[in-house]
Amino acid sequence: MADFQGKSVLVLGGSRGIGAAIVRRFAADGASVTFTYAGSQDAAERLAAETGTTAVMTDSADRDAVIARVRESGPLDVLVVNAGVGAFGDPLEQDPDAVDRLIRINVNAPYHAAVEAARRMPEGGRIIVIGSVNGDRIPFPGLSAYAMSKSALQGMARGLARDFGPRGITVNVVQPGPIDTDLNPADGPMRDIQHAVMALKRHGRPEDVAGMVAWLAGPEASFVTGAMHTIDGGFGA
Ligand code: NDP
Repeated sequence: MADFQGKSVLVLGGSRGIGAAIVRRFAADGASVTFTYAGSQDAAERLAAETGTTAVMTDSADRDAVIARVRESGPLDVLVVNAGVGAFGDPLEQDPDAVDRLIRINVNAPYHAAVEAARRMPEGGRIIVIGSVNGDRIPFPGLSAYAMSKSALQGMARGLARDFGPRGITVNVVQPGPIDTDLNPADGPMRDIQHAVMALKRHGRPEDVAGMVAWLAGPEASFVTGAMHTIDGGFGA
């Protein structure tokens, strides 16, 4: 377990699910943590009170709000961009506004947040984005827009790793497979179809992903950058 005493961490999208586990993990490891939420004010306030962290309302669909939040929270030692949404279904039937909103939250916000964070991030800083194994593998129909958004993060991380590497800042993507959250409950309708393609026939836990994020943010990962880190129970194997 890394010691994050004295480290300033911002988690975009920390009120529920994987983001909440990341907030808990960094708080338990001693960091000073701020996290954003959009719709889940009650959950965010409960988590902040429980963990001694700071919750702030910032809609990741609003580029200027995201940039302002990162600026106000900085300088950051660690930025984690977790906020993400799905827009699943037949692309011929999908609402184009829903697809564009997904792109704003899943792609535009991570990019602008990462760039803004890097302006004042010190040497040793870490930028970690939550992608998806669907950035690599799409074994079912109905995932095109979501997969597109998660693949975009791969190019972003590779590029920004080059841009910020000379300053000692690393940029990485964590790519979960099925994780038991509101977005993808372990007892939900996709359970059997997902488990059928997995080596480990179960959902992962948000804490599993938080552990990988903490490792990437810690000293053991100082030579790791521009890379995709898949944690998927063998979904993509
Ligand atoms: P949840 O739906 O359970 O939680 C999503 C979190 O993101 C919430 O805290 C939510 O906050 C926040 N969020 C969503 N939209 C916005 C927004 N516009 N502005 C600010 N915050 C927002 O999802 P998961 O925990 O499952 O997913 C987290 C990340 O992991 C996502 O990027 C997702 O794509 C990725 N992922 C998840 C997998 C899974 O199986 N669960 C698999 C692969 C990747 P609020 O409720 O306050 O709006």
